Amino acid sequence: MNDPHIHVEGGKLHSRAVERNLLASVFGLVGNLPASVTTACGVQVPFAMTSAEPGVVTCLPCRKNAAERHRRFADQVADLGAGPSSPFTGMEATDAAAAHRDLARRFDDPP
Ligand SMILES: [Zn+2]
Repeated sequence: MNDPHIHVEGGKLHSRAVERNLLASVFGLVGNLPASVTTACGVQVPFAMTSAEPGVVTCLPCRKNAAERHRRFADQVADLGAGPSSPFTGMEATDAAAAHRDLARRFDDPP
């Protein structure tokens, strides 16, 4: 398959690269990134063809999905505070919610 688009990794909100950097900084571990991942739009692509950065993602269904996930997560964070699964852990809940809403808005904009 020759897919020129940059997708969002499906499943958990935050990228594995973020998780990997976190593990590396906390435990001095560097896990192997998977060769391919399932995207938010349901296709398998090489991990390198995914991103969590709104300015980079070109797949429209993935952008829409990511915007929705960030919006939902912003509401959760506002209610519960940034949990350990948020890339914004350690921030004030209102700041973390605002950061997720900002990401949602950027995913809503056309690439
Ligand atoms: Zn996609």
